Amino acid sequence: MEAARRWPSQPGVRRNLGRFWYDHRMGDVAVIGSGVIGLTCALRLAEAGHRVEVVADRRPPDTVSAVAGGLWFPYRAAPPDRVLRWGAVSLSRFAALAGEGGNGVLLREGVVLHRRASPDLGWTAAVRGHRPASAAELPGGAVSGVVCTLPVVDLPVYLEWLVGRCARAGVRFRSATVGRLAELPQERVVVAAGLRSGELTGDPSLAPVRGQVVRLANPGLTRWVVDDDNPAGMAYVIPRDGDVVCGGTADEGESDLAVDPAVERAVLARAVALAPELRDAPVLSRAVGLRPVRPSVRVDRVERDGRVVISCYGHGGAGVTLSWGCAEDVVELAGR
Ligand SMILES: Cc1cc2nc3c(=O)[nH]c(=O)nc-3n(C[C@H](O)[C@H](O)[C@H](O)COP(=O)(O)OP(=O)(O)OC[C@H]3O[C@@H](n4cnc5c(N)ncnc54)[C@H](O)[C@@H]3O)c2cc1C
Repeated sequence: MEAARRWPSQPGVRRNLGRFWYDHRMGDVAVIGSGVIGLTCALRLAEAGHRVEVVADRRPPDTVSAVAGGLWFPYRAAPPDRVLRWGAVSLSRFAALAGEGGNGVLLREGVVLHRRASPDLGWTAAVRGHRPASAAELPGGAVSGVVCTLPVVDLPVYLEWLVGRCARAGVRFRSATVGRLAELPQERVVVAAGLRSGELTGDPSLAPVRGQVVRLANPGLTRWVVDDDNPAGMAYVIPRDGDVVCGGTADEGESDLAVDPAVERAVLARAVALAPELRDAPVLSRAVGLRPVRPSVRVDRVERDGRVVISCYGHGGAGVTLSWGCAEDVVELAGR
């Protein structure tokens, strides 16, 4: 097997994976996609006893998932009732992972700011221990806020951890682009291909919502801030261990992956207004990702040409937030 087909290639993981490199034995479930959705589904399916093969043409560090700020927050995902249920499952799973360490998951307090009189607070039903922000916690222009402790996931670390967990559970990995589901030998296929899922299922309802972030050296921040209603543009500051993710943008239908320096300057200005400690923090990296937005997240099962096709895509700005809950439904839909 040539080197290009061996993956994951992250140094810390490759060491543990020699016996899991793709070896032409096919599992009974194929998962297309190795973003946070595909990997979480693969792990839960393997833990449920399935033989699983992940097929993907982009490795975890090169996926949209690796760009995510990593805050548990149900942004740009519907329908509300399922999102709440999936989000609640993920919340408790991430809380448990935060206690284990070594996986990039932290629990951190922060504030969701509101600039309108009647904000949508539906998401708080999943969150224990939230409270109204005090006046001292509200920057100028914010009329209210919700303070709570939520998971903050450092995606590059977490995706690598997920790959390692998958490998230990027996999941095999293959680098390939799937043109048609009929190419796959497995009778059960999970489509977790993010924005490109519709090409495989014949679903035209996915659209990109472009997001640009800049990551700064962390001057010691621990508290995150979300300011989606900011009239100058959505803004968030998410401190992780080694950096602070500053965003963001939400450009409907835009798919340009180039970093726009003018947009970055504006993102930084909004971030510094929320967290003045960031003023002189050095830029470590920058990224653009396309959120896979759909009128509603698709998690269902159909039978087509003698094959079971389970869809799990369209997670919008909440793929991390919904990942564990959706994976539970996928296991249920896969059956035995
Ligand atoms: C700037 C930004 C900030 C965000 N912040 C957050 C946040 O704080 N919290 C949160 O919960 N969410 C956040 N999100 C949203 C989150 O990143 C996405 O919802 C999530 O990454 C979607 O994951 P996915 O696994 O479906 O897709 P992806 O990560 O895009 O993975 C798709 C996978 O499918 C593979 N693939 C696609 N087509 C094929 C094919 N035909 N053949 C083989 N392989 C294929 C790709 O190679 C890739 O491996 C953010 C997104 C952006 C852009």
